[in-house]
Amino acid sequence: MARIVEVATSRLSRLLHTPFVTALRRTDHVVSVAVRVTDADGGTGFGEGPQVWRVTGESLESIEACVLGPLAESLLGWDPTTEPLPQISSRLGQAVVGNGGARAATETAVLDLLARAAGVPLARYVGGTELSVGTDVTLPAQGGFAGTVDASAFSQVKVKVGLDPADVDRVVRIAREAPSVPVRIDANQAWDLDGAASAIERLLAAEVPLEFVEQPLPAWDLEGHAELRRRYEVPIVLDESVFSIHDLRRAIAASSGDVVNIKLAKCGGIGAGLEIAAEAVDAGLDVMVGSMMESELGVSAAAALASAIRPNHVHDLDAAWWSIATDDQGTPYRNGQIVLDDSPGASHAAGRVVPDDAVWTTRS
Ligand SMILES: [Mg+2]
Repeated sequence: MARIVEVATSRLSRLLHTPFVTALRRTDHVVSVAVRVTDADGGTGFGEGPQVWRVTGESLESIEACVLGPLAESLLGWDPTTEPLPQISSRLGQAVVGNGGARAATETAVLDLLARAAGVPLARYVGGTELSVGTDVTLPAQGGFAGTVDASAFSQVKVKVGLDPADVDRVVRIAREAPSVPVRIDANQAWDLDGAASAIERLLAAEVPLEFVEQPLPAWDLEGHAELRRRYEVPIVLDESVFSIHDLRRAIAASSGDVVNIKLAKCGGIGAGLEIAAEAVDAGLDVMVGSMMESELGVSAAAALASAIRPNHVHDLDAAWWSIATDDQGTPYRNGQIVLDDSPGASHAAGRVVPDDAVWTTRS
């Protein structure tokens, strides 16, 4: 292993087999930024940064500028084998504030490089015990259940709600289609306190087995989330409210949530994700791992984190499934699990996602 000599970006573009709709946006194709780091021995590692204007505020252009600017400057000439994971994270965290997706993509690329050199899968390199973790499938807001999404590869659903007044009826219908499966709902900040209370009461009155309600209120409304916890026994998941460990501490102090949904593009990488998970669990909160609309490359890194912090849990890692052809024999999605390859690093995912003729913009 030797020092890093080049950092590069390229755009990944994928069509979705079904449009993805949340309270925040509608998407039928996804473009993200692939990051590649190269060391002096010619070793490479890859990561992915998603454009998420309305959650992280990052764009394709901002990710590229951040990766090829301050993050590349912090990496070039440096030998990552000399520092453990927390120091790799803090090196990137000191180079730039915010920009979690750019930092996560770059950190993942460095960790992939190190895991490949060590000959172990990324999940094992970061402390994971399993090469497969459970995942739900997220049913888009609006539109029906049956007929629009063949979700038979999954046993757990998470339903996006918030846009449509008929959402609650739709959740009730979905719950009745699979009465033995607890239902997760995610409002992506769309409700206010009264709207959330009314929806939860209607769902409870209809005896929907709610596993949790995710981010019912705006990210800033820690007190509102705490009020919902006081009123109802349904667990509250914080997603958009918790990016960093400092957000987590504020949420804990305000008693705002029961579970934290950790995403690499929010927290800035696996190193920060491990730190947030450890502190959340210490405070008695539960943790799950989710992702943005990313390909197998980004989702494999998130699954590696999930394997390291809570291997036997149903996470929220179906994002890549939306851009995989349903007849793809190599799909990592099998029986409600995302199955990671045992090849070194995340090379299997990179090999499937990054085209051989990708055009790279380099900084060396
Ligand atoms: Mg969410």
